Amino acid sequence: PETFRALRAVKEDAGVRAEFQSLTPADLPPGDTVVRVTHSSLNYKDGLAVAGRPGVLKSYPMTPGIDLAGEVVSDETGTYAPGQGVLLTGWGIGERQDGGYAEYARVRSEWLVLLPSGTDAGWAMSVGTAGFTAMLAVLALEEHGVTPDRGEVLVTGAAGGVGSMAVALLAAAGFTVTASTGRTQEEGYLRSLGAANVIGRDELPALRRPLEKERWAGVVDSVGGETLAGAIAGTRTHGAVAACGLAGGGALPTTVFPFILRGVSLLGIDSVTCPTPRRRAAWERLARDLPADRLADVTQVRPLSDVPALAEQILAGQVRGRTVIAVAPG
Ligand code: NAP
Repeated sequence: PETFRALRAVKEDAGVRAEFQSLTPADLPPGDTVVRVTHSSLNYKDGLAVAGRPGVLKSYPMTPGIDLAGEVVSDETGTYAPGQGVLLTGWGIGERQDGGYAEYARVRSEWLVLLPSGTDAGWAMSVGTAGFTAMLAVLALEEHGVTPDRGEVLVTGAAGGVGSMAVALLAAAGFTVTASTGRTQEEGYLRSLGAANVIGRDELPALRRPLEKERWAGVVDSVGGETLAGAIAGTRTHGAVAACGLAGGGALPTTVFPFILRGVSLLGIDSVTCPTPRRRAAWERLARDLPADRLADVTQVRPLSDVPALAEQILAGQVRGRTVIAVAPG
């Protein structure tokens, strides 16, 4: 293309501002592969980047968007043929180099994942980094020996992106899922995803005691802070907690007692640097366990022009489930 549209974060004296710009291929970062981006998605991190909060974008101007999907235009490594459908999450796109909120991206071929058979770019972005992260968390719990017969599992921030996907994945794997949410009006939604129980945010003990009644065989946490501390305190002997996020805060006011008296494990999840073989395995399992019809309830599709407004909404905890961004459909 001679020119194409991109949402750019630019730094000015007054601060960071997002604006739509017309770019040319010469504006794209170095890389061996060009992708025509049809879909991106909205994650909490994208909200931070677009709203101009510090920490996510490492330089300016920058195209945010940590996820993208579309078709290969050219690949100098010869790995992909023009027209092949691919997805890309993490690896620093939308943080250190231009990401998914533009009609074209230049990236490294090795970062791409072929769309699993039977899926399309819209499905991939409905899953996005949030669903991929939830999958990594479920895999981590399973590898730690957390199986459905061990008892109930907890998902915090359940109505959000990572949370919604974790509820659906755990239910698909046969777990009895308790969903913790600040939006108890979303109980019907969470039950439709497969939650057996829905509890309010305030019902989780926020570390009133270092050890609470043993309840959770496993936990997928996207909230951090006191919520994570309370979840750890209520985890059963030899259970495990996958820490994914900080929507409620980055501190962790806990004690060593759950770890040394109950053998509880805290498992760290980082989707950005997840190695390629594990990525591919996770995406194949996502395609199996979360086919497109199961994601219909979870997903809203919005145009690129809505991203600045959506950024404020996701930071305010007002976005339910997943948001696909239609960049250049067709
Ligand atoms: P999201 O859709 O906004 O979900 C976050 C959810 O957390 C909200 O929907 C809300 O759920 C809950 N929440 C928000 N503010 C809260 C508060 N002050 N106290 C308690 N709960 C609160 O965002 P997301 O894209 O799913 O991301 C969730 C978190 O995971 C973010 O911190 C993100 O950076 C992180 N993350 C990490 C990785 C990784 O690789 N480790 C990957 C993706 C995301 P309810 O309304 O149900 O209470």
